[in-house]
Amino acid sequence: MNSPRIIRTVAGLRHVLKSEIASGKTIGFVATMGALHEGHASLLKKARQEVDIVVSSIYANPTQFDNQDDLAKYPKTEFADLLLLKREQTDVAFIPQTADIYHNLSATPINYGALTDTLEGAHRTGHFDGMSTIVRRLFELVTPHRAYFGEKDWQQLAIINRMSSFEGLGVKIIGCEILREPSGLALSSRNIHLSSQEKKASLTISKSVFGIKKRLTNRSLHEAELEIANELKHAGLEPDYVKIVNADTLEPLQSETSSGQGRLLIAASLGTTRLLDNGPV
Ligand code: AMP
Repeated sequence: MNSPRIIRTVAGLRHVLKSEIASGKTIGFVATMGALHEGHASLLKKARQEVDIVVSSIYANPTQFDNQDDLAKYPKTEFADLLLLKREQTDVAFIPQTADIYHNLSATPINYGALTDTLEGAHRTGHFDGMSTIVRRLFELVTPHRAYFGEKDWQQLAIINRMSSFEGLGVKIIGCEILREPSGLALSSRNIHLSSQEKKASLTISKSVFGIKKRLTNRSLHEAELEIANELKHAGLEPDYVKIVNADTLEPLQSETSSGQGRLLIAASLGTTRLLDNGPV
């Protein structure tokens, strides 16, 4: 099994991909912030099956962190990440520096109404401006035919879908389902900060996601949201939001009758660790 080519500069990436692009190979791209786990691996596996060249980036983009402590605390595990990329037969690991990748680039505001304004957009100022700026930049450099993103970050996936079609980026966006621990907890790089006690408490989130359809058989959408928020608080979590929205537009769902098109999205903190989860309604 070959190790991925490790590329740390924009010029290096352009150089490596030039001949691949010229020879008509298809490129698949998986953007990550590092601290890789089986969720990331599932995206890499899908890419490996579908394209000739798999490129993965490892870059915790500072402009999408509204809290610099959160960025400083973000786990850095490059050696282990490279082993996982090797195991998944990734061809290129792109690990850029901020000064290089942001050369002549500043975060560009992005506004797609409810898609960018609500939920994460309302709680993390500038997060989606930073995210979309770096994804555009990475697409421009990697020139992927296909890019793989997890449903774990449902709103991010919806925004990237919209951006890609709206701006004609020419990249097919592939959404990949959420990978979970056997307990139900959605895999996340941030989970390493959870104690075993906190992990137990965090399961209130995934249980709410799995049980939402049943809960709605005898409650209104609003009642269900309030009830889940209360259960999270009772378990020691601090919910930022518990919302049932239209899965595509992220606008409030009009009524129970429109379920089937709905998605429950939850963000909650446990101590200093912020967790996201979502599932179909
Ligand atoms: P991150 O490194 O957290 O920015 O994640 C990189 C990509 O992996 C994003 O597209 C995430 O949505 C995706 N991802 C993260 N966790 C999971 C998971 N548990 N299951 C599936 N995809 C995931």
